[in-house]
Amino acid sequence: MAKKQISKSKHKNMQRWKKYKVEGGKAIPLGRFCPRCGPGYFLAEHKNRVTCGKCGYSEIKRSE
Ligand SMILES: [Zn+2]
Repeated sequence: MAKKQISKSKHKNMQRWKKYKVEGGKAIPLGRFCPRCGPGYFLAEHKNRVTCGKCGYSEIKRSE
């Protein structure tokens, strides 16, 4: 009997790739990077603000 491993924790990693759009074989970032941490660290989108999960930077979104 082969052991079947079901990993539910992989879901979180998958979300990172939602932030990229693949176009012509290139990954284009869709979100904004953290101005403190630099490229590679996306700001997490919230209802009315964006935050960085690494350094805690946050920015209020302007509603137009
Ligand atoms: Zn940051």
